[in-house]
Amino acid sequence: LAMNYRGPYRVRADHNMPYPEIQHPGDAIVKVTRSCICGSDLHLYHGLVPDTRIGSTFGHEFTGIVMDVGRDVTRLKEGDRVLVPFNIACGVCPFCKQELYGNCHESNPEATAVGGIFGYSHTAGGHSGGQAEYVRVPFADVGPYVIPEWMDTEDAVMLTDVFPTGYQAAEMGGIKTGDTVVVFGAGPIGIMAARCAWFFGAARVIIIDHIEYRLEFAREFAHCEAYNFKSMQDPVLFIKKTTDYFGADVCIDAVGCEAEGSALQTLTGRNLLLQAGAATALQWAINSVKKGGIISIVGVYGPTFNMVPIGNVVNKGLTIRANQASVIRLLPKLIEHIQQGHIEPKALITHRIPLAEVSDAYRIFSSKLDNCIKTVLIP
Ligand code: NAD
Ligand code: ZN
Repeated sequence: LAMNYRGPYRVRADHNMPYPEIQHPGDAIVKVTRSCICGSDLHLYHGLVPDTRIGSTFGHEFTGIVMDVGRDVTRLKEGDRVLVPFNIACGVCPFCKQELYGNCHESNPEATAVGGIFGYSHTAGGHSGGQAEYVRVPFADVGPYVIPEWMDTEDAVMLTDVFPTGYQAAEMGGIKTGDTVVVFGAGPIGIMAARCAWFFGAARVIIIDHIEYRLEFAREFAHCEAYNFKSMQDPVLFIKKTTDYFGADVCIDAVGCEAEGSALQTLTGRNLLLQAGAATALQWAINSVKKGGIISIVGVYGPTFNMVPIGNVVNKGLTIRANQASVIRLLPKLIEHIQQGHIEPKALITHRIPLAEVSDAYRIFSSKLDNCIKTVLIP
């Protein structure tokens, strides 16, 4: 049983998907125990990522049990309970050596940009994903991490992407003690970024979205201020006003490309110029950060995007930092945060849905109805 992509807005649970096999001596086969749906999967689901092929299986956030290993695998054995980072990394290429595990060369050698990612189209290497009962895990000695005994599987699955990505969003922002940080997007990633901003010494953390239940969740979980941009005339002006017209020290884009253009239809005045695919949150970030400030982008952009006010980046002397999260690099530190009781990432999980109902799961997560923050599929 595995998720099967049939085209934009169409996925199904398919009992006839092939079983994965060891193809390389460094592979492992993992029986999936938990597999999340991510905001990144929605870009695939909405048909926004090039070369997303019919018949492919998504899923890059999963935990499981090792069923079989290739003859070169030394760090894993049958029966191990593992969490599998979303990036596929060889561990030895020049990028992995710099701990840029999200930019591994070997896992996706033909790519112009991204490294290999499980279940993330042929632009990310064409690796089959973990929204399935079984999945093949390449470079099994590098990415998969044996889950400590004391750790809950659902905390572990949040270490495959959401916690590291939120953490890295804050880290790339170069947050200093006393900073005001604005996070655009109160999905799992933005909420986690807001929570992590405090680890770096932020004095004020503000999150912006238009979905009330998510703003409420962010206030509770991330202890931040949360505002609805639909109730503002202009989010940029709002942020200026609340920072003595200086702007935020750091702005984080945790939105990426939006299929629906939902942000856009409700705004008036100068924002009327915006249109679907116009990277609205990124524009707001650039225009509301202070001069000399830092923009951290973890939002994913499938196709090319225009209307990014690059002139303002130049004239304000901004620094833009962006990447896929380097999960493997961050794991030891984040596991320690969980062990110390600083954070319980599984608190973001609101929906647990059988893999057989994957099409409902996508519909719910995509529509942002039913008070959904994070959805986990259970094979
Ligand atoms: P999500 O879809 O659950 O959340 C996105 C949120 O942004 C929604 O709540 C939506 O209402 C809000 N939003 C839309 N337009 C907005 C705007 N103009 N201003 C403010 N908020 C707006 O997704 P998620 O799982 O939280 O992921 C967020 C982004 O992070 C996605 O683009 C995803 O692809 C990306 N991501 C990146 C990495 C990485 O390693 N870089 C990893 C995981 C996810
Ligand atoms: Zn993800």
